[in-house]
Amino acid sequence: MTRYLQILLGLTLATCAALSPALAEDSDSGENWSIAIHGGAGTIKRENITPEKDAEIRAALNAALMTGSNILRDGGSAMDAITATIIILEDDPNFNAGKGAVFTWDKTNALDSSIMDGSDLSAGAAAGINGTKNPILLARAVKDNSPHVMLSGEGANQFSREQGLEQVTADYYATPRRIKQIEAVLAKEISVADVDYKFGTVGAVAMDRNGNMAAGTSTGGMTGKRWGRVGDSPIIGAGTYADNRSCAISATGSGEYFIRLGVAHEICTRIRMRWPIAIDEAQLTVPKDADGNYTYMIHASEFMLPDEEIQQIANDVIAELGELGGDGGIIYATPWGQAGYSFNTAGMYRGRATSDSEQSVEIYGDDE
Ligand code: ASP
Repeated sequence: MTRYLQILLGLTLATCAALSPALAEDSDSGENWSIAIHGGAGTIKRENITPEKDAEIRAALNAALMTGSNILRDGGSAMDAITATIIILEDDPNFNAGKGAVFTWDKTNALDSSIMDGSDLSAGAAAGINGTKNPILLARAVKDNSPHVMLSGEGANQFSREQGLEQVTADYYATPRRIKQIEAVLAKEISVADVDYKFGTVGAVAMDRNGNMAAGTSTGGMTGKRWGRVGDSPIIGAGTYADNRSCAISATGSGEYFIRLGVAHEICTRIRMRWPIAIDEAQLTVPKDADGNYTYMIHASEFMLPDEEIQQIANDVIAELGELGGDGGIIYATPWGQAGYSFNTAGMYRGRATSDSEQSVEIYGDDE
């Protein structure tokens, strides 16, 4: 779509909001909510997935999405909605987070998680941890109950125990599939880069009825990682970001590239910077009266960035990621109630629901 059409679309929406009290009220009264989730991106193709596994994954995504949606519909916070949603995905061995997390080179688990509240930019993260059943709860405890943003390794494990979070032994995370994967890597049958479905990170982003946004991400990282490697998932600004002024993002993919671009923050920043410019552009197209004054002024509260423009910003950043050599994708939620995705891989486990639309879950690139 041309820039001119995008501006016109933005203007049309602003005009509708200005002229239609019902629409303006809907979007300003805090009645809107939205949520998007992911369960990882990668070489996810129909021919690699049995119908049974396909159904299992869709059921898992639907259950997680339903949990978050119910909280938001009932007036709960975005923070509570994403936390509850991510716990369900962490507990499901189909994903690379919590139970079912991948193994490191040393056949241990080193889980990463992060969470951010867009209402006050408070954030928490844990890197290279184990022992905690639900790493997203550790990230949240770091945010809520520590003066820090990120804790790592043994210190983070200790903090988790001190916080009274549920602990598990190493065998809790292990699944036969993950054991097979790491053994194949260690036997040099496959390289770390070739591990099937190497992505399976989980994440959720949401906006609640009060207009507050939150984002969270949880992962086992990459199969066969070593030397204490940490990916983007626990890095605020790379794998996770939330800011009520722009968006909430959770990422999945080749973490090194997401860190280098600061993908989550980059998308939010572009949206935040674009919004006032789009309002100014729309104002220029408002008709003037005989004295040369605008017949009405567009107010920020009436103006939303159109869906296409949000999608384009997300796609542009993911395209840059691809140019650098990175694979993966993101989910987004915006202050205007939009929820969506962008990815450059064959597929991404994903789903979304908003106060204005039916819940939907998708797996492959060409899923509708
Ligand atoms: N981004 C994660 C990492 O690099 C992996 C993933 O999303 O699957 O650790």
